[in-house]
Amino acid sequence: MSSKVIPVADLRYGSVVPDVSGPLIAPNGLLEDTLGRPLKDLRISVTDRCNFRCVYCMPRAVFDQNYAFLPHASLLNFEEIERAARIFVAHGVEKIRLTGGEPLLRKNLEVLIEKLARLETPSGHALDLTLTTNGSLLARKARSLKDAGLSRVTVSLDALDEPLFKRMNDADFPVADVLHGIDVALAVGLAPLKINMVVKRGTNDHEILPMARHFKDSGAILRFIEYMDVGASNGWNMAEVLRSADVIARIDAELPLLPLGRQAAGETAQRWRYADGPGEIGVISSVTQAFCHACTRARLSTEGRLYLCLFANRGYDLRTLLRDGASDAQVETALAHVWHGRTDRYSELRAQPADTGAVTVSVDPGRVEMSYIGG
Ligand code: SAM
Ligand code: SF4
Ligand code: SF4
Repeated sequence: MSSKVIPVADLRYGSVVPDVSGPLIAPNGLLEDTLGRPLKDLRISVTDRCNFRCVYCMPRAVFDQNYAFLPHASLLNFEEIERAARIFVAHGVEKIRLTGGEPLLRKNLEVLIEKLARLETPSGHALDLTLTTNGSLLARKARSLKDAGLSRVTVSLDALDEPLFKRMNDADFPVADVLHGIDVALAVGLAPLKINMVVKRGTNDHEILPMARHFKDSGAILRFIEYMDVGASNGWNMAEVLRSADVIARIDAELPLLPLGRQAAGETAQRWRYADGPGEIGVISSVTQAFCHACTRARLSTEGRLYLCLFANRGYDLRTLLRDGASDAQVETALAHVWHGRTDRYSELRAQPADTGAVTVSVDPGRVEMSYIGG
């Protein structure tokens, strides 16, 4: 293998092949970055394609019929994903989330899930293996996903109101089919099931209470996500962000809430329960309360690039290592070097100065899209 960091020409996003020349670093499950953050979570994007065109993620004007999605040969195959995942797990990863694009569009995904479900942490524990989906194919696939070894799912759903939901997914997809998918997933035991609602002020914030009422006694955990300035194509604007604090206040006014203890390390949601009985909700304040100090998450893109932050504009090309004959020990060493050097804390930096609440962002046009890196 080469001993240098080689910039790789790529039409879309920059990447470098990590250096694997130095002494080997054997994994001990205790990797830490420059801010003392361990590596615990891995998100793997299994496709950059999607059957929805959510306005905040893959706006149709950009992701149109001329958009160049990755050719199949660029994608990591299941053996490559499994090998990479095994190396991440050896370094401390305990939770793997499959995402995309729409992960259920990847053919034979169950085969990959079977492979990943067999991995164990260094202390012999099974992984927390989950998947985020738009729910469109969930009713059809929930049983086979569960049988393959998937632990649970997160379903994205931004509104119950049919015309609004269709406007937001921009694919004319009916809400009833997603709700049916959620029911089937609950019935086969893909639990705890979480529902993610991205809140865009002025677009779907009037759906917060209907969504809360609908899922209160359903057994699913509804989470409200602040609309983020991820990627470079969604035309993000701070005026369209509704603070999580306001989400909680609106729900609490009708359905009183109680905070649910301290969150687990690496947990991104602040959790609440209903005062009058069962039901839990969460808020993910990615914009107004950055949680970079506790970010233990790496992302593996569809074509095998490692990203250290959702807002990164440069990836580390693991695919070249995997395909060009690097040994497991060399890939382990490469991952150790990359994570040791990690400094990323985009959301915390964006939020400064915190006392004024001012947010100034200049969007780097080379920043990776959510559908490529996996949300
Ligand atoms: N297609 C799947 C889905 O929608 O669940 C998985 C991929 S999607 C990129 C993962 C998550 O990112 C979804 O819950 C989606 O709502 C969220 N997301 C996408 N763009 C976002 C944005 N600009 N701000 C906040 N969340 C976003
Ligand atoms: Fe597709 Fe998910 Fe992005 Fe919507 S949020 S466009 S469903 S990848
Ligand atoms: Fe992690 Fe980057 Fe998000 Fe901060 S901005 S929480 S470092 S992904």
